[in-house]
This record gives sequence, structure tokens and C-alpha cells, in this order.
Amino acid sequence: MTASGIAQQAVETFSARERQRFLERNPKSVALAERAHKSLYAGVPMHWMADWSTPCPLFVERAKGARFYDVDGHEYIDFCLGDTGTMFGHSPDPVARALAEQASNGLTTMLPGEDAVVCGELLAARFGLPFWQVTATATDSNRYVLRWARAITGRKTLLVFDGCYHGTVDDVMVRCRDGETVHRSGLVGQAYDLTQHSRSIPFNDVEALEAALAKGDVCALLCEPAMTNIGMVLPDPGFMQKCRELTRKYGALLIIDETHTISTDIGGCTRLWNLDPDFFVVGKPIAGGVPCGIFGCSAEMAEKMLASRRKAQEDSHGHGHSGMGTTLSANALAMHCMRANLEQVMTQAAYDHMLPLAKRLADGFRGLIHKHGLKWSVTELGARSEFQFCPVSPRTGAEAEAAFHDELQMALHLYLINRGILITPFHNMTLCCPDTSAEDVDHLIDTLDQALSELLAIPG
Ligand code: PMP
Repeated sequence: MTASGIAQQAVETFSARERQRFLERNPKSVALAERAHKSLYAGVPMHWMADWSTPCPLFVERAKGARFYDVDGHEYIDFCLGDTGTMFGHSPDPVARALAEQASNGLTTMLPGEDAVVCGELLAARFGLPFWQVTATATDSNRYVLRWARAITGRKTLLVFDGCYHGTVDDVMVRCRDGETVHRSGLVGQAYDLTQHSRSIPFNDVEALEAALAKGDVCALLCEPAMTNIGMVLPDPGFMQKCRELTRKYGALLIIDETHTISTDIGGCTRLWNLDPDFFVVGKPIAGGVPCGIFGCSAEMAEKMLASRRKAQEDSHGHGHSGMGTTLSANALAMHCMRANLEQVMTQAAYDHMLPLAKRLADGFRGLIHKHGLKWSVTELGARSEFQFCPVSPRTGAEAEAAFHDELQMALHLYLINRGILITPFHNMTLCCPDTSAEDVDHLIDTLDQALSELLAIPG
């Protein structure tokens, strides 16, 4: 028996059946997968796309709202939503129109237009931080904010929580093992020692937080207000406030990455919980699914950024490079789409629709766990909810990871895919969008109910 309470043998039998079913149901995806291996490394345009639960990649033909359609003509209800990239539904009409408007008016010039100014004003009004920068991805935003934090404080060490993910930023690829910071496992081509300038501590551990900050070398704590990348882990009441209080006490900055938790409230957890960060990051859905990232900062940070930049320029006699950039950052297409998204898509009405549906889904998961007598739990936050294979919602990344049962998770996901439902891969997170309906939610619950009934009927 595994930690999830489900026998490994039963999972293997169940999984083999579903893999066979997928191959029979998706001949066009199978054919494209074979063809792809001849030109794409690992048969996919980005290697992790081969890591889903399906025996070969599921090839998508088109997507709209809460639905997408595969090349074999099947329809899917999408609770993954591009892992938040399309949190407001696939191709929202205002964003599609903005794309069409900008398409023949210039895509990128390295110069700002009026859209940039309007976006700055909209972001300041929405999130409460006065100054903004626009990047190409959340990864880039985090990377640049980290550079600014080191420049501003003159300190090098980045503090993160064990099990975090903030994009492919080298400095965050560390874990905490027995109180020591170590490299995250599986890194490819890691040439230098990340533990030199990064420190990892458990989430929800005020003592470890204070001890890490008290060393006096931490430039910033970079964190999500609730962890969402190792399974969901919610903060204890008051923990995020402690993060603010203690970073301030020890002269470190607080960077809140709301790339996923922006699903909690139109102003993110930052606004909802009054977190008062020095820097605030969002990416993925901010331009309605068009690549774009942003970061905002306080007036105090903006002043200090100016001073550090001036100093760097003086030191380099005006010929230096800030180490931040990328040519396509804040391109005309992304800015036009972000404006349309902020003005017409990412609205209070959208959240008013999404939030109760996620609650309905979380309640549905709880009902299934009770019905089938499983010792699992449900964690919910805003438009997201997740079932986890442990009796009580985890409080740390390590606890969340200990509850993983990869084969079971993959088998259940594949069962759902074979019946037209997609949830976020690699753990069990679901997201509702403005186009998700109560019927969609109930359909997911009913289908998962069938899956569990079939799985539990297999002798272990
Ligand atoms: N921050 C968080 C919290 C994320 O979850 C992710 C991606 N999952 C990122 C940053 C990076 O986003 P991107 O891959 O779009 O750069």
C-alpha cells in the first residue's frame, strides 16, 4: 500500500488500461507524435511537453473559452488553462480583437506607445504599487527584480521557500534538506554552486525565517503568497504578515510573485491580505495569454533603482549594460493585448464568476474523498483547488511532496483526458475560468467519481 492508500498494483492495472484506450482513441495524435520525433528533440517543441500522463503528446487543434479540441476531433473541458496562462479562458474576444487590431500596425519597435502609458496607469490603480516595468515572461520579471534587489541592498543572498518555483531563474533552483540548502535535483548543465548565494527554508516556519534573515546577508525573500508549484500549500494565518515584518526588520526586501495566485482576487493576495511588498510580479495571464510579464515597485524602490542605475552607469562610464532587457519586452503586440485584457477581461465580474465555481469544485472533491473513504485532503484558494494524497492539507513544500504518488496522479489524469477533461499536470490542481460552467465542474466531479469507483474495484 502507498501513502495515497491505493495499492500500486491496482494503479498499474488501471493505468495500462487507460494508456491503451488513449492510443486507440487518438490515431491522429499518435501519427503526429511519430512524425514529430523526426524533427523535434524528444518529439515536442519544448521537452517538458513529453512529460504529461498521456503515452504520446495530445495534439491540440484549437481552443476557445473553457474548451479545447484535439486533432482527432475530441472536445475537452480545460481546468488546466495553460497552467494559468489562459486563466481568463482561451482567446478571450477582447484579446483576439486586440491581436487583430495590432497585427497590421507593427508588432515590435523597441519604442513605447500610448498603450504602455495606459497599462502603467491601469496596473498602478489595480495593484496599488506606483511604478511598473514590462517583460516577456514571469521568469524574466523575477530575474530582473532579483538583480534590482541585489543592487539596492548591496547584499547577495536570495531567500526562497523549499519547493518553490518562480520560473527558470537559476537562483531559485535550491531545496532545503535537513536545514541545509542544496541544489534542486534534476538540474541540467548546472555549472556553478547555487547555494553560495541562495538559501532555502521551509514555508510556514517563522523561526527558520527569522534565523535566515538574521544572518544579515539576505537581499530579498522571493515568495508566492501561497505555494502552488509543489501542490498547493496555504500560509498559516499571519505567516505572510510575518514575512513582511521580518524582512523589514532585517533590511531585506519582500518580492511577492503572484503569477499563479492572481487567481485569488483581482488585486491578488497582495491586495486581499494587505501584503505591502517592495516588488510585485505577475506573468502568464496578464496579457490574456500573449507572452508578457510585469513587475511593480514602491516609490522607495523606484528611487533606489534610479540611484543604483546611476551608480552603475558612472562606474561603466556610460557604456555598461544593466544585465536586464530582452528585445521583445513590452512589444507593441503584448502592450495592446495587456491593455485589452486589463480593461475588458480581467474584471471583477470575471472573478465573481470564477470564485464560486472553484468552491463548488473543492466541495465536490471533498464529497468524493468522503464517499470513497480516502485519506486525502483538498486545498483551495480563490479560483484554484487541488486534491492531495494526504489526510491533512500540507503546511510545507516537503509535506506536499511526501504526499505525491506520481503513478496514481498520472493514471487519474489520463482517465480524465480519455473522457474529455484536462487538469494541471504534475500535481492535481484545477482552475476555473470565466467560461467554466457549474455543469463543467459537476462533470469533472462525476468523472472522477467513476474513475475512483473503477480504480478501487481493482484487486490490489
Ligand atoms: N512564477 C510562478 C509562481 C510560476 O508558477 C511560474 C510558472 N509556473 C513562473 C513564475 C514562471 O512563469 P513563465 O514560465 O511564464 O516564465
